[in-house]
Amino acid sequence: MMTRTLVTGAAGFIGSHLCDRLIADGHEVIAVDNFFTGSDGNIAHLTTSRRLRVVCHDVALPLRIDHIGAIYNLACPASPCHYQRDPVRTIKSNIMGALNMLDLARRTNATILQASTSEVYGDPVIHPQPESYRGNVNPIGPRACYDEGKRCAETLFFDYHRRHGTRIKVPRIFNTYGPRMSTNDGRVVSNFIVQALKGDDITIYGNGAQTRAFCYVDDTIDAFVLLMNTPVDVTGPVNIGNPHEVSVRELAECIVRMTGSHSRLVYVRLPADDPVQRCPDVSFARSILGWTPKVSLEDGLARTIDYFRKTLSVRPSRGEARPAPEPARQMSSPLLRATTPYSPPDEVPPRA
Ligand code: NAD
Ligand code: UDP
Repeated sequence: MMTRTLVTGAAGFIGSHLCDRLIADGHEVIAVDNFFTGSDGNIAHLTTSRRLRVVCHDVALPLRIDHIGAIYNLACPASPCHYQRDPVRTIKSNIMGALNMLDLARRTNATILQASTSEVYGDPVIHPQPESYRGNVNPIGPRACYDEGKRCAETLFFDYHRRHGTRIKVPRIFNTYGPRMSTNDGRVVSNFIVQALKGDDITIYGNGAQTRAFCYVDDTIDAFVLLMNTPVDVTGPVNIGNPHEVSVRELAECIVRMTGSHSRLVYVRLPADDPVQRCPDVSFARSILGWTPKVSLEDGLARTIDYFRKTLSVRPSRGEARPAPEPARQMSSPLLRATTPYSPPDEVPPRA
């Protein structure tokens, strides 16, 4: 059934791919973003579709829209350098964002999916990580604004489910990569590819022995859509990731080989609390969704390298974290000017 669907964080890397998929499947999409890390360029190609509306809004503030069938709550910076840039804002996006979107789901009777994360496991001592593992998070470290924010958001989701019967879906996403990551995103796949293509040094943090398991974005989107359409009693949390585990050093060597780069591997300081080993146990996803990732690391990297080759030839990276865009700049962006301001059909009164 075609549903009016709200996507928060829609102008970000994963959110924009989700919008593509929902529009292609015939849904009407309300794309909400405050453009903190997202870019209007990620969804500009969809603005010709009459089924997309863009709303510039911070999810830390209440949102009043009616007639929503489904909500995908993705709004939150995901790269460590961006979520640590303004940690209090990250916590607010996670906790106030979850509360506001849960209230919206409750008012509109929508099913709501929360983009949770493998970071709820912190620096895990169980390997690979099953959903039953309760994690090893430092609550006062530099990653805590994100990790604890996401953990508390999960708590809120399950409390709304128990108390109010809200229909919830909670995927725990492991490292996802692909086209439309920003050149200045700061995460490992985009950093290494951009560095390799520019011939810059490849910055390995620590000794590169730490591991991650990388999932191509199309596989993650398939899992989101499958999970959203499961029966009411399927809530998760469910791990969504590719269980092919590699070390950061192996990833660097692979990208250098695939790009034909002459970049050197250099070893720099390991950030605090960087998880040593991470890999999802995806047996639960397989059993409830019939889902396993299809795109191999080599294929996914080839597609991502191709994307960055094209992006860098038009827009060279400055190689540093981007500051948050000024509100004035956001409002003058061609996308927002070209987009009809969204007016909800049935305004509901604010909460008392
Ligand atoms: P991203 O930074 O590219 O996208 C996040 C989007 O949210 C951006 O468009 C940003 O502008 C927007 N945003 C941030 N704060 C907001 C706010 N307060 N109000 C409205 N919009 C806001 O990151 P991504 O990789 O696309 O991640 C999307 C979601 O998936 C995030 O919630 C992230 O925590 C989760 N996730 C991603 C990964 C991954 O590997 N990519 C892994 C685990 C979880
Ligand atoms: N990393 C790295 N060089 C970089 C960026 C990241 O060695 O330029 C490492 C980082 O220390 C971590 C891994 O790559 O061990 C994954 O980092 P990312 O920021 O992509 O995601 P997360 O740590 O959240 O899994």
